[in-house]
This record gives sequence, C-alpha cells and structure tokens, in this order.
Amino acid sequence: MKLTPLGVWGAYPKADEATSAFLLEEGGFRCLIDCGSGVLAKLQTHIDLHELDALVLTHYHPDHDADVGVLQHGVMIETILEKRQQPLPIYAHAQNQEKFSKLDYGKYTTVTAVSPEHKQTIGPWEVRFCETKHPVYCLALKFTNENNDSIVFTADTAWTEPLLPFIEGSELLVSEASTYHPMIDQIPGHLSGQQAGQLAEKAGVKRLLLTHLPHYGKVEDLVSEAKGVFSGEVTLANPLRSYFI
Ligand SMILES: [Zn+2]
Repeated sequence: MKLTPLGVWGAYPKADEATSAFLLEEGGFRCLIDCGSGVLAKLQTHIDLHELDALVLTHYHPDHDADVGVLQHGVMIETILEKRQQPLPIYAHAQNQEKFSKLDYGKYTTVTAVSPEHKQTIGPWEVRFCETKHPVYCLALKFTNENNDSIVFTADTAWTEPLLPFIEGSELLVSEASTYHPMIDQIPGHLSGQQAGQLAEKAGVKRLLLTHLPHYGKVEDLVSEAKGVFSGEVTLANPLRSYFI
C-alpha cells in the first residue's frame, strides 16, 4: 500500500495547501480518503481525476467534504470528454441523510452507505469502520489488504476506548492530532499529540503518522508529545512524500 498525504491541516487549509486527506494506492487502484478544502487541487498534482477509483468520507465537516461538489463537477466533465467510463463510487455513512443523498450525482457519482456493522470491499481492500467521538457522527477507517496488512485512520475524534481494539493489529496508525495536550480541554472532539501517542502505544502499533494539525504553536511539539508516551516511530504526515506499508 502506498499512502500519500494530500493535506495535513485541521479546520481549514494553509495558503497553497489542503486540509487533511490521503491518496491510498495498491495494485493500480486509487482511493481518496476525505475531500476537504484544497484537496482536489492537490490530488491532481499526483493523478488525473479520471484515474481516481473511489472516495471514502469519514464525516460531513467542511475540512473533510468541502471539495466533494467540485470533484463531482470534475467527474462530470471528464465523463462527457470520455476520459472516464464509470461513475466514481463514494462511500460514506448515512447518519445525515441530507448530506449523504447529495453524494449521489446521477451517472457521475454513486454512493454506498457504510457503517460499523458491515465491512466493505473497496478495490483491493477490506474496509472496516468504527464510530469515533466527535460533535457529528464520524467513522474511523481500517483498510486491510490481501496480505493482511492494515492501516487505520482515526478520522476526527476525542479519546475513546473503543478505538483501541479497532486499531490493534494495524501496521500504521494515521491519527489526528488537532492540538497540544495543555489545550485539549479547549478543543472538544479532538486528540492531542500525546493522546495520539497513547492510542498507538495501547493498541500496539509500530508506526504513527500525525495529521489534522493545528494552525498555531509548533507542530513538531505534537511529535514530542507522542514520543513521550509511545515507543514506536512518530512522524508528521508530509505531503511531499509517500509512505509504504
Ligand atoms: Zn470534524
């Protein structure tokens, strides 16, 4: 599996950057994970739009879904130009029916409801879902390939114990780290760098990648917080490189 961060910011993008999103690739299948502000522009620095095979959304907040409308327009135009032959499948939860129904864009994008109760095959992966603790319903994602290698994305969440068994057994944890631990009470629904490290340590993963970063303070401090409680490898997600599992 090849994982490329397209953006790493929480809440809104920095200048010329994007909010937290990832391109996950394996065996020629290309899946976009979240599609917030700035993501469509960054995606096209890696692949052409018609090469995208699927989109998975964790929840309906603008820093995770703001670019869905323009993605649908892009898919429509590439379909009219006959660059794309198939509609783009979108996978998302249906707890918000109004948002969920807008993901269906006629013959251009189809939508499939996902939930913690059912695993979903997406390209070469089996994908499982776990409800997080966030102001709106949100799903953590676990992608497992046929070699039984897994990546877990926490999506947006506060500390919540049910995530631990969900994360266990994965090679890489991609965790949000929205703030610094001394400020955690001011940022409800999110994790600090220290809490991301605690998740990784308690779940027994080897590698931790931090994303959904704050626009204030020194983001390197999030790594120090995580390293204080986690014995494995910790890095900030870097849109200039890819990670291999
Ligand atoms: Zn959110």
